Amino acid sequence: MVDGILVPAKAALVKKIPLARSPIEDSLFWPFIANGQYNCKSGYRFLKELEAGTVENSQPDLDRQLWKSIWSLEVPNKYKNMMWRACRNSLPTKLNLTQKTIIDNSTCDRCCSHIEDALHALWGCSGLDDVWDGERWCFRTRERFADFKELCRWIMEHGNSLELFAVQVWHIWHQRNQLRLQQPCCLTKDLKHDAQARWDEIRAINPLPNQVRPEQKPKWIAPPPNTYKINYDGAVSDKENKAGVGVVIRDHNGEVIASLIQQLDQAFQLMEVVAIAACRAVEFGNELGAGCAIVEGDSEVIVKALRNKDNGLTSFAPLINDVSLFSTLFSELSYSHIRRNGNKVAHSLARLALITPDCTVWMEDVPFRTLHFVQADLVAL
Ligand SMILES: [Zn+2]
Repeated sequence: MVDGILVPAKAALVKKIPLARSPIEDSLFWPFIANGQYNCKSGYRFLKELEAGTVENSQPDLDRQLWKSIWSLEVPNKYKNMMWRACRNSLPTKLNLTQKTIIDNSTCDRCCSHIEDALHALWGCSGLDDVWDGERWCFRTRERFADFKELCRWIMEHGNSLELFAVQVWHIWHQRNQLRLQQPCCLTKDLKHDAQARWDEIRAINPLPNQVRPEQKPKWIAPPPNTYKINYDGAVSDKENKAGVGVVIRDHNGEVIASLIQQLDQAFQLMEVVAIAACRAVEFGNELGAGCAIVEGDSEVIVKALRNKDNGLTSFAPLINDVSLFSTLFSELSYSHIRRNGNKVAHSLARLALITPDCTVWMEDVPFRTLHFVQADLVAL
């Protein structure tokens, strides 16, 4: 639990709200600790290992290209998300669950003879021969891949349709889960047909769902290697007498390290809320061990105030002073201004905070309604 991430708010502007698990979070599993429950220590260790390059990012350029290709796929978000999770080995396959000691048998339920990792569950299992039948996938019998990510790269490099592949993969995983839960689902022999039908539907839609038009592309810029960018924003609802703050931390590949929302039980002045959000951003970054960071918001007034440090009698001056105190905990910290168009992820989080009473943190993820802004930023990199 990342409780204790509080705005230090001298003025106690922020009510102390313990971190709560949202319904969305209930399906999340922090894969770097045995019980799957996030804690600060494991988050810090993860960031350090990531910085040292010992966490799966040993091929950053290749990975960046692959993530970009995945997030650019012209299919609905759930398919992209599925592909991303499979490539990151973050699906709850039986092998992953066994390694986390949640279950003790990693054998595939479909063929009952191999260990079920992502590559096997979605591609290699003999129980899927009917699904991957046909000329398009004929390389399945001759090419060998180390993992799912390598398979995706191969498909990309050989000009095969990664989009149809993504749709089929989603249908396979969905049916696999339904079978495990003993829920109604289609027969395996019908999976190929069902996926193809869905694919035809997607293709028939124009414009494609979630497609970002070029003129709307955000201008978010990734930080340099070994630096994290922390975007923040605030929102106010006078009608509901509430305010909300949103923070997202991303690395040099544009990948989300963590995101946060917090509702405030009062409609402060917008500048005050943005200052609280900036404060939260710095504190959250420190909490997750981001030693070198760029803190970025879309209010010029607040960014100037953060840089100036002396803000006289402004209503947000005490909050800015709190940020200064936290800034000493970083090895390097700078403040950046971005136009609102490049701060859409944080803005979306702040808006969500207005309607979400619990302070919530997502590790390596953002809430579903914010996901397409993250994807748009990645595509624009
Ligand atoms: Zn199998």
